[in-house]
Amino acid sequence: MSKNTFMDYSAAKDWILAEKDFSTELLGRCEAVMCQGNGYMGLRCATEEQYLGEQRNLFVAGTFNKFDENEVTELPNAADVLNLTLRINGQRFDLTQGKILTYHRQLNLRTGEMVRTVRWQAPAGEVLDLEFKRIVSFARLHVITQSVTIRADRDVKLVVESGINGQMTNTGSQHFSEGEKRLYDGAVMQYTQTTIQSKIDFFFNTRLRFFKNGDEQQEKGFITMDRRRIDMRYTLELAAGEALTIEKISTVHTSRDKDAEGVDFKEMQTRTLAQAEEAQAMGYQALAEESAAAWNERVWDRVAVTVESEDEFDALALHFAQYHLYVMTPAHDNRMNVGAKGLSGEAYKGHTFWDTEMFILPYFNFTDPAIAKSLEEYRYLSLPGAHKKAASNNYKGAQFPWEAAWLDDGEVTPVWGAADIVTGLPTKIWSGFIEEHITADVVYGLWQYCTVAGDQEFMDKSGYELMMDTAIYWVSRMTEKEDGKLHILDVVGPDEYKEHVDDNAFTNYMAHWNIKKAIEYHDLLKAEKPELFAKLDAKLGLAEAYAQWTGALDRIFLPQPREDGVIPQNATYLQLKDIDLTKYKNQDHVGSLFEDYNLEQVNQIQVSKQADILLLFLLMEDLFAHKTKQANWDYYEPRTLHDSSLSLSTHCILANDLHDTELAYQLFRRAAAIDAGPDMKSSSAGIHAGSVADIWQCAVFGFGGVRMLGGKLRIRPALPKAWSRLEFSLYWHGQKLHVVQTPGSVTVENLTGTAPVEMELAGEQISLTDSVTRSL
Ligand code: BGC
Ligand code: BGC
Repeated sequence: MSKNTFMDYSAAKDWILAEKDFSTELLGRCEAVMCQGNGYMGLRCATEEQYLGEQRNLFVAGTFNKFDENEVTELPNAADVLNLTLRINGQRFDLTQGKILTYHRQLNLRTGEMVRTVRWQAPAGEVLDLEFKRIVSFARLHVITQSVTIRADRDVKLVVESGINGQMTNTGSQHFSEGEKRLYDGAVMQYTQTTIQSKIDFFFNTRLRFFKNGDEQQEKGFITMDRRRIDMRYTLELAAGEALTIEKISTVHTSRDKDAEGVDFKEMQTRTLAQAEEAQAMGYQALAEESAAAWNERVWDRVAVTVESEDEFDALALHFAQYHLYVMTPAHDNRMNVGAKGLSGEAYKGHTFWDTEMFILPYFNFTDPAIAKSLEEYRYLSLPGAHKKAASNNYKGAQFPWEAAWLDDGEVTPVWGAADIVTGLPTKIWSGFIEEHITADVVYGLWQYCTVAGDQEFMDKSGYELMMDTAIYWVSRMTEKEDGKLHILDVVGPDEYKEHVDDNAFTNYMAHWNIKKAIEYHDLLKAEKPELFAKLDAKLGLAEAYAQWTGALDRIFLPQPREDGVIPQNATYLQLKDIDLTKYKNQDHVGSLFEDYNLEQVNQIQVSKQADILLLFLLMEDLFAHKTKQANWDYYEPRTLHDSSLSLSTHCILANDLHDTELAYQLFRRAAAIDAGPDMKSSSAGIHAGSVADIWQCAVFGFGGVRMLGGKLRIRPALPKAWSRLEFSLYWHGQKLHVVQTPGSVTVENLTGTAPVEMELAGEQISLTDSVTRSL
């Protein structure tokens, strides 16, 4: 699967994603796809030495800061601890100088370790062998470890300079004021910085150690401090052929850490220094082993998806997906959520979108329920922001922000975006104002979580309230028209190429579902949980709300299929101009439509950015007939450009549901290639978090046919020809199931076996406490 010469998939079966050439034009790509992290922090895979065109980023989840009144809050780019400058006989190590004799960089998805090996000839002729290794510990949330081994072909004088650099910005916005710098014991550097508006203190500690043949060398460094940075400089003699290893072990803490609450600044300095010293004493190898063991325990030995395919890339893509899901998700803190680029780039500012509930959450629902719960607790805790947004729009109840950051922020979508090629002005971003389906998406996700996990406690504590508070909003958002129906006017649906539309089918059906569920739960609580009912009644005024919901439900306008089965995506879509889209369907980079049209013009064409109504068919599978789905597939697929990375997987899963497994496979391959594949174009600003999760969805929901339907589990497997085996684990109501699929059979084992799991397996209703095999 190789279009270019840069990526290397030859060790895919060993879980290795590699790059075999170096180019300063393509730095961003591997910085993002080889990003390391542990949900607490994300570190782009920038090189130790610095280049023009690089994007060094270190993000700590949930540390949002607003640079000034004209900008929205964003995840600030924290101080850089990776930088390490080497000088060999006075010449700086720099791959754009001299000659690259060999180059290889790889990320091992199983261990999380990055290794870069380079043989480089300096302009003056010295040949150096360098090996750079790096880990962001999966076992210790605050630890970054690096190791650099150098050999030269002759005696050289080596100068190593490295420290903590607080001069970083987010494309120019400087989010920090400088704090304190200090060197302890002549070796450990400490640096603090504080976000200028949200006032979060960051604490960094780092230290370099030197080893020759495994023996530590006591090197005396020279300390330098400058504006926003602290560094140590070491001068060493290196004999020909002798190996020198430099270890740099750093820690990152902030005052937002849960265990930093109530701890004062001085105490944090002392405490973080002690934690750094502990990690530094362990050394690179022990930290790397500890981290790899944590990956195995928490992910690979527990819930790894494995596939045997004609092309080893397929298995690699699934490992890639699971790897990034854990790198990007702040599982440790329910006041935080996943950003649309995870923690791998500045794009989308660390904000949380519908990507969480629609694309990412399903993974955790079925494999790591505690994390799914934490992500939904975030939504519950952010109710103040949702109330704020509704109130500011003169609606009632809870309206979730299209983009979310701090719990009480409300809406944080920026208002101005990309250039309009016709007017020469920036384009206004309407999603923050009117992309409203997010509110129903959030509660759909939460309901999915509670149903799959069987978490009644969460439903009691937060779920019912969220369902009802959002239903209150939806009723206040609807407009009665002459036909006596309630319409949702002036929205952006999932397809963002259609703005200011009325009755977007996705939005209307989801809102309808939201209100219907609120009614159902109202009745249930009233009959069965009077205390909880009374509590919610006092909070939300349920008598009035209930009257409104029941009065509205049957009057909500739900776009129906035309005679040919096609459901109008919105009130006007089917009347818009049809143009020849061949050029854009065959584009080699997303968004090529905007080289010819501006958004206003795109609004007038029957063209979609991404899956819209088709997504509804996955979420509400039972509501639509097979032939309706097929008719809409036939109509909308040719008009969908998949300019959002969230689109292909929906089409892949749906193609499976429509029994076209081979087409589904082609779509899987395209979806899997978005970030893990050889194409260099769209990952530089950060991996696509939702799309990464979608790789898993394509396999498990698509070819595995797994779905939660009406509160029940369903497994309806169909493997593509290229796959001879698919194996995955699922959690259902606390029971762990293991599924093995081959072309002729499926076996499901209830590994927990303490309660029967009711499910539909390949068309048959079963109740499973042990193991069952069905031939297909
Ligand atoms: C996306 C919107 C988003 C906006 C600003 C656009 O590219 O399509 O969903 O709200 O960027 O972040
Ligand atoms: C998509 C949205 C998505 C956002 C963030 C946009 O391009 O259109 O659906 O939520 O990106 O991933």
